[in-house]
Amino acid sequence: MKYKRILLKLSGESLMGDKQYGIDNDRVKQYAEDIKAVHDKGLEIAIVIGGGNIFRGLSAEKSGMDRAQADYMGMLATVINSMALQDALEKVGIKTRLLTAIKMEQICEPFIRRRAVRHLEKGRVVIFGAGTGNPYFTTDSAAALRAIEIKADVVLKGTRVDGIYTADPEKDPLATKYGEISFREVYDKGLNVMDMTAFTLCEENQVPIIVFDMNKHGNFMKIANGEPIGTLVK
Ligand code: UDP
Repeated sequence: MKYKRILLKLSGESLMGDKQYGIDNDRVKQYAEDIKAVHDKGLEIAIVIGGGNIFRGLSAEKSGMDRAQADYMGMLATVINSMALQDALEKVGIKTRLLTAIKMEQICEPFIRRRAVRHLEKGRVVIFGAGTGNPYFTTDSAAALRAIEIKADVVLKGTRVDGIYTADPEKDPLATKYGEISFREVYDKGLNVMDMTAFTLCEENQVPIIVFDMNKHGNFMKIANGEPIGTLVK
């Protein structure tokens, strides 16, 4: 395998499948099976999940809610998603630990960096819940931060699109996909890979990012094997 330790970022929306809201169990099951296949190869896997399928702080602020309050609700949404994925992973026989940035002692461990690393070394899939634990951040930033902390080789951003395009492929039929692109080019071209805080963190700490389509069964294995699908930012 190309990598030893990876951080997989999944958006909350990706858990919706074809639904408009919430969690699609079939989709979560597919993710669990794909993650198991890669885990069986001996890779250390840490996961950060978003919460956009349940609650987004920024949207709630637009309808009048206090931003910080709304963001904490968003962080709780990520814990719900994390628990759903944890359940699905354990159903396929993987040992997992859920570590959250906000203490919830009855359901998970608090995030302690050294403990997270130890879990990974012992072959447990580690899920990081509640984002960074701070309002005004995103789960992309949590993914970048945790990846650096645990010294992951790469951030794999599993989305519904198969990479980074010159323009929005749903609007521009001439848009083409990058196989590889530098951090600098992403800034210069104004492309949207992750939010800027997350993106800069990865750049400054030399953590490459790969954007790929996680919804296609088997893609995660291809990426973990180093196959050039998706877009590599380095
Ligand atoms: N959030 C936050 N701090 C964090 C991570 C997340 O406040 O460190 C909140 C924020 O309100 C965000 C919501 O949690 O809208 C869900 O996360 P995100 O939007 O990143 O999820 P995704 O877009 O990946 O589904």
